[in-house]
Amino acid sequence: MDHETRSPVKTRTLLAQGLGPAESATKALVSPIHMSTTYLRDADNGYSGGRIYGATDNPSVQQAEALFAALEGAQDALMFGSGMAAASAVFQALERPTHIIASRGMFYGLRAWLADISVFGHCVTFVETSDLDAIRRAMRPGETGLFWVETPSNPLWTITDIPAVAEIAHSAGALLCVDATVSTPVLTRPIAVGADIVVHSATKYLNGHSDVMAGVLAVAERNGLWDRIRRGRAQIGATLGPFEAWLLMRGVRTLHVRVKAQSETALMLANRLAGHPALSAVLYPGLRSHPGHAVAVRQMIGGFGGMMSIRVKGGEAAAVAAAAQVQLWKRATSLGGVESLIEHRASIEGTGTPCPSDLLRLSVGLEDIDDLFFDLVQALGSAAAAAGHGKDGIRGGV
Ligand SMILES: *Cc1c(COP(=O)(O)O)cnc(C)c1O
Repeated sequence: MDHETRSPVKTRTLLAQGLGPAESATKALVSPIHMSTTYLRDADNGYSGGRIYGATDNPSVQQAEALFAALEGAQDALMFGSGMAAASAVFQALERPTHIIASRGMFYGLRAWLADISVFGHCVTFVETSDLDAIRRAMRPGETGLFWVETPSNPLWTITDIPAVAEIAHSAGALLCVDATVSTPVLTRPIAVGADIVVHSATKYLNGHSDVMAGVLAVAERNGLWDRIRRGRAQIGATLGPFEAWLLMRGVRTLHVRVKAQSETALMLANRLAGHPALSAVLYPGLRSHPGHAVAVRQMIGGFGGMMSIRVKGGEAAAVAAAAQVQLWKRATSLGGVESLIEHRASIEGTGTPCPSDLLRLSVGLEDIDDLFFDLVQALGSAAAAAGHGKDGIRGGV
């Protein structure tokens, strides 16, 4: 799919203008929120306006869909009431029981749902998708119909080579779906490098202000699966509300500058934290030490995103204690907002999680780098002091 033939302008311009004014009647630069759930039928029993019912025909939602299709270089896009509603729609629309290969590291809510997906007759094999041989070994000829890749993936920010997996998938007659929530269309456009479907939790970076739940799917080429996804969304009512669509359009127009600034701050923070005596690891694809760095350099254009994790030497207790000491970072789940969040990830994922118990997940916001860095350093220092390690060694890392 050639993005440039569909959209002559760059991502940054598309975002800033949000596809421009949509209201020909008033010439309003910002579209109104269309709240109507239904549309007038003509006397001849037709619908000359082309719209029938709010679940499928809302102009505020369609404006967002048009923008995301353009951003992804996609033929079409569909909005959903959440990222989970968007992601699960793909699996629910598969025509027959399918073997699915999915990234071992992924958003835990989807992983938990996929573990139960046998209700649809599907079978999921979780593999380390950064390891192409592991993918090849997991394939079942004639049965594997879908590859599901999250990159960078929660919460270790593992990088999967999208074009390489696309080649493996397509040679087996399977589809590749990429959850690109963390990279956003600013840094990676999966369809341009071979993905068939892209999914985003728009709750995260796309909206960016921690005040909207939304999800989006974009497709390289409309096909039977896409028709079933669209039909399924209308049937079960997994639609996005018009007010949420409007807020999302408002938030997304600054996506480019937000993601660039967050990526820049995250890279500086990762470099400053690397080697800190209270930490056993800083996990960020922008660091040369990260196992996925070389692929990330190829695949993430203009930055490595705003997500990273740190592993605390003192283990779970020290990690939780450090999170308790932050003054500026907000202790909360989710990611991609303008405010920086810190989270002891294993606590929220629960028992059976593959997430290391000493890991703190950081969503880097738009605050000043020094404020963010020194707050973390004091939190790590206080936690280590409370654990009896003394403060002096910790200060050495500043
Ligand atoms: C949050 C998230 C989801 C789920 O999205 P919701 O909007 O919370 O339903 C899916 N994938 C990734 C990578 C996420 O971070």
